[in-house]
Amino acid sequence: MRKYFSYSIFAIAFAAISFLFINWKKPVNNDNEKVSVVQRIPTTAINKYYVSNKAPLQPLQLIKLPPGSIKPQGWILKYLELQRDGLTGHLGEISAWLDKRNNAWYSGNGEGDHGWEEVPYWLKGYGDLGYELHDSSIISTTKDWLNKVFESQQPDGYFGPRAKEDAKTKSVDLWPNMIMLWCMQSYYEYSKDERVIPFMTKYFKWQSTLPDDKLLETYWENSRGGDNLYSIYWLYNRTGEKWLLQLANKIHHNTANWMQGDNLPNWHNVNVAQCFREPATYFMETKDSSYLNATYNDFHLIRNIYGQVPGGMFGADENARKGYTDPRQAVETCGMVEQMASDEILLGITGDCKWADNCEDVAFNTYPAAVMPDFRGLRYLTAPNMVVSDNKNHSPGIENAGPFLTMNPFSSRCCQHNHSQGWPYYAEHLWMATPDNGLAAVLYNSSEVTAKLGNNNKEVTLKQTTHYPFDENILIDVHTTSPENFPLYLRVPGWCNNAVIKVNGEIVSASPQADNYVRIERKWNNNDKVEITFPMQVTKRVWNENKNSVSINYGPLTFSLKIKEAYEKINGTSNLQADSKWQPGADQSQWPAYNIYPASMWNYGLNLSGAPLSQQFEVIKKSWPANDFPFTQKDVPIELKTKGKIIPQWTLDKYGLCDTLPQSPVSVNTNVQDITLIPMGAARLRISAFPVTD
Ligand SMILES: [Zn+2]
Repeated sequence: MRKYFSYSIFAIAFAAISFLFINWKKPVNNDNEKVSVVQRIPTTAINKYYVSNKAPLQPLQLIKLPPGSIKPQGWILKYLELQRDGLTGHLGEISAWLDKRNNAWYSGNGEGDHGWEEVPYWLKGYGDLGYELHDSSIISTTKDWLNKVFESQQPDGYFGPRAKEDAKTKSVDLWPNMIMLWCMQSYYEYSKDERVIPFMTKYFKWQSTLPDDKLLETYWENSRGGDNLYSIYWLYNRTGEKWLLQLANKIHHNTANWMQGDNLPNWHNVNVAQCFREPATYFMETKDSSYLNATYNDFHLIRNIYGQVPGGMFGADENARKGYTDPRQAVETCGMVEQMASDEILLGITGDCKWADNCEDVAFNTYPAAVMPDFRGLRYLTAPNMVVSDNKNHSPGIENAGPFLTMNPFSSRCCQHNHSQGWPYYAEHLWMATPDNGLAAVLYNSSEVTAKLGNNNKEVTLKQTTHYPFDENILIDVHTTSPENFPLYLRVPGWCNNAVIKVNGEIVSASPQADNYVRIERKWNNNDKVEITFPMQVTKRVWNENKNSVSINYGPLTFSLKIKEAYEKINGTSNLQADSKWQPGADQSQWPAYNIYPASMWNYGLNLSGAPLSQQFEVIKKSWPANDFPFTQKDVPIELKTKGKIIPQWTLDKYGLCDTLPQSPVSVNTNVQDITLIPMGAARLRISAFPVTD
């Protein structure tokens, strides 16, 4: 009996220790962790908290969170602050179009001057900048303008100026109104102002009455009807009024045909970057994959011919022109920010990670170089290979005739206003909600998101800390007042084949794949940590269509030759684009314009051997800049060292542009030299598609 008792004690103790041991090895909160790798987000559920597509529309894969949900941090916060303190925040003080005096957007009745695209272009990004920074002054100015737009609505539903009413047909140009609708949508998402829904409803009722021959007739509105279409679906998702879907059909059929297969309605850079998504937008209603495929086809059509260059864009300096495919061909700043917006929207419609890849490519490699580091000036055109940035006429080397390459806050009329949306929209899409009440990290940057997640109406905060794309490590901290079950999706970039993801120090039980999401569903506890590593390495792209030139990447960053940049301050209000205007009191000393000239040789080819790239390129990592701003030559935290040779015959051509690329490999007998490459986003003069020397 006594012996039996001691065996029992022993057995119980052993069981207890085993139990503790098993549970020590495997924490309780991991028991229900489900990890999978998915190419698309499942859409069988409907998100309980955030407005998505309403039936019969195709469900969205990823849902935009209301502006203000994501607090930008790190370099994206710094960029938004530069916008606030620079051109975006102060454009109202210098731009003639934003002068409130006798302004057709500010008169409350549509009468006055400057009633076309400039005010809504600027307000679109300016408002969102305010919502994201919780800046009461910007929000108050935004409301001032929007109040006047509400006031301007006519009894028939039309609002705003009648800027370009066609004298013959009496049809009105609806393009500027399309942009203003986007301002209203963001404002509503942020404020829930109850005037917005009836305002838009009344306007679209008016649109419904227009006969087809008076709808979207002129060039810009006809190209860009997709923006109008997107707003109709936005409203439908909030009201469910079925007549809106009929109006959507009407808008689609009166918009230029972006489904031609082997051609585009026009090859204007901004139109292409903005309008190629029109068929995919209409796909949400038709659910016919040929519409979705048309958008993919347009994207590849322009890139196959004009986009055989680094930086995510294509050469169309005003328009893409037959035969002008060299990386010295440029794109407008408007084109860059519209492309980013298209990528963000298409990510929501398709869930396809390739749109996030393209958005990051443009955001990291192309857009930062289009503006001055202090965000107090920008240029109209920026090219992957660009060794002079001045106010001379370089036409017909580039199509635009006039001073289109200089950094000037008084010039570049459309870009001067439209640039504003680029970073605010990007920052609003760092995180997106998923149909299964989860959250997806889709564009990586330091930020803090607070969103309703799981099934219990609970707000959870996730804080992301990283120097991505300048660093390969990303940390996500979960903050929740009580444990909550929800799925977290992590996008794996297309360039990354060996991502490592850990939850609370343990590698997750699924192998991440490029251009897929890792889905982690578990009960998340306060202070849970997700560590992501996207190992970066030097890679090379060869552009066979552009003389076998090469571009060098390290992760998502493409590299340019580091060219010494000499900045020459110039008079910003003389010798500028013909349609530039400014306010009489604009203080030029506060808003300097610059020409930038090369103060070192730029005509290098890379001297590559057959050795592994890791042996031919030395990666130099420098300390993170104290001001959190990495897009300058001085402060960029990563450089590459490699070998190059001067190509003497590659010079400026008769148009004052770097000549088109020589055919690689190029035979030269110049000496091999050490050269330095920097991220092309920090290079305002750049060679980023290199010839190769033999
Ligand atoms: Zn522009």
